[in-house]
Amino acid sequence: MQAIVKLMDWIETPWGRIETPGLIPTWIACGRCGRCCRGFVLGYREEELETFYRWRKTGAPYSYPKDIEAIHDLFVKIPEKIAADGQSIYTCKAFDESSGGCPLFADKPEQRPIACWAFPYIADIEDLFAFSYPGCRIFQKSLLYIMERMLQNFMEAFDPIADRD
Ligand code: SF4
Ligand code: SF4
Repeated sequence: MQAIVKLMDWIETPWGRIETPGLIPTWIACGRCGRCCRGFVLGYREEELETFYRWRKTGAPYSYPKDIEAIHDLFVKIPEKIAADGQSIYTCKAFDESSGGCPLFADKPEQRPIACWAFPYIADIEDLFAFSYPGCRIFQKSLLYIMERMLQNFMEAFDPIADRD
């Protein structure tokens, strides 16, 4: 996987450089299909999230997710579902099953957890492959972009005319 990370650097993906929603390039914008909202892993157990939330309320200087309040308010564990690696699977109270979308996306973007707007941009590029939801626009566009960049780099590297000036 380390090789993939290096490859992404060479192809100049924005992964690791996006820190606010405004920095997300339009070519990898979320398609708002809602597939990832129905069930997702957070990398934390429910008890850990509760502990983080208590710390946050007391102002304790421990390390916890920056968006722990939004996570605590919105995300709920689906008791009957467990990921293959044993992690809990969560869904979101805000998710609108009838429309299949996120009502906060347009109306209250500031209430969306960082885990939502940043998925999977500020995470490691590996997450793109680890959590590739079927039909995810981000995943599809990223693959397309990566292939285009590889072709461009290849053409530039082997362009017989480029070095003649
Ligand atoms: S806040 Fe919106 S984008 Fe995030 S999980 Fe909930 S419904 Fe999905
Ligand atoms: S699956 Fe992909 S395109 Fe669909 S809502 Fe999630 S991040 Fe956006």
